[in-house]
Amino acid sequence: QVAFSQHEVDTDEGSQGPIRISGNENAFGYSQMAMMAIMQELPDINRYQWEETMALIEAVAMKEMVPTEYVVPTAGSGPVLQMAAMAYAAPGKNVVTVEPGYTQLVRTFNNFGGETKIVPLNDKLEYDLDAVKAAIDEDTVMVYLCNPNNPTGTVVNPDALKTFIRELPDDIVAFVDEAYLELADGGLDKHSMISLVREGENIILARTFSKVYGMAGLRVGYGIMKPDTKKLLGKYQMGGPNKLGCVAAVASLQDTAFFETSVTNYRSVRKMVTDKLDELGIEYAYPQGSFVFMKTGIPIKEFQGMMEERNIMVGRPFPPMLDWCRVSIGTEEEMSTFLTVFEDIMKTQGK
Ligand code: PLP
Repeated sequence: QVAFSQHEVDTDEGSQGPIRISGNENAFGYSQMAMMAIMQELPDINRYQWEETMALIEAVAMKEMVPTEYVVPTAGSGPVLQMAAMAYAAPGKNVVTVEPGYTQLVRTFNNFGGETKIVPLNDKLEYDLDAVKAAIDEDTVMVYLCNPNNPTGTVVNPDALKTFIRELPDDIVAFVDEAYLELADGGLDKHSMISLVREGENIILARTFSKVYGMAGLRVGYGIMKPDTKKLLGKYQMGGPNKLGCVAAVASLQDTAFFETSVTNYRSVRKMVTDKLDELGIEYAYPQGSFVFMKTGIPIKEFQGMMEERNIMVGRPFPPMLDWCRVSIGTEEEMSTFLTVFEDIMKTQGK
């Protein structure tokens, strides 16, 4: 594979791979400080990662202002979702969530014998917390909310969410997935539910280095929760992040300049996309993550095919909204190309 790419680079200058705006990856790259930390650590990967994991736990605890006992480092944040699902799922028990939403946790919950109660979003494609509350019954053990929601990118009012979580019965855990929250207007300071973890509420919060920090392929994330919840999830822990991931994550947390640039890039390209959608009169959900969910009016499978013919990979189907498309934010250049192609397709299709 390496030799093949080298060959391509040498002989096929100018040819380009597809524009990948399908998987919510960070097109702006990742921290140079993280890259240096990885290179410095490379000679030592014959040794286990215990110290580096501890350093990551300490760095995260400091950032989140929680005791180190509250931090669960994982290989990407996906395992936090899965461990929580495994820990709480049981026949007859249910998790309440929304549709369209991110399904990794609920799929695992179902695989482990639990049931899912699905609540629709409101007409702005935002959470309807009253409807979520109404769906809770005596068999509910968890409420899973992804904020901003994936695929819609909408956020929920932070005060309303805090009240909602505080009012949940004590034996129902709130799982808040903040994978994209740094990119919301006002960022973590305005929107994060971390203060509820500190207050001792029954809540699990998940964060990742895959999105704003741009290290999806390295697999580092973490959960934050009370030690008794951590003990429950711990039964299903199958391995944390590797040594290179740990040092890169710690370096990323120190690289505030990269963080600021990443956030600024995302917000400005996101605005460029929504400005164009406004001009074209295309309906979209108010985006606060690293993607935009828009109504094409074309069945998503067909739309994916049309885009693929033009060398652009867009997001997968998100039932039940099958004539909408989720487009991840790429670089300014990639998004200009996307928007030109998009305008062309919409015109040809008479939309
Ligand atoms: N949560 C949400 C909402 C996501 O969209 C994703 C990935 O796309 C994840 C969690 C898991 O990502 P990772 O395991 O890379 O942290």
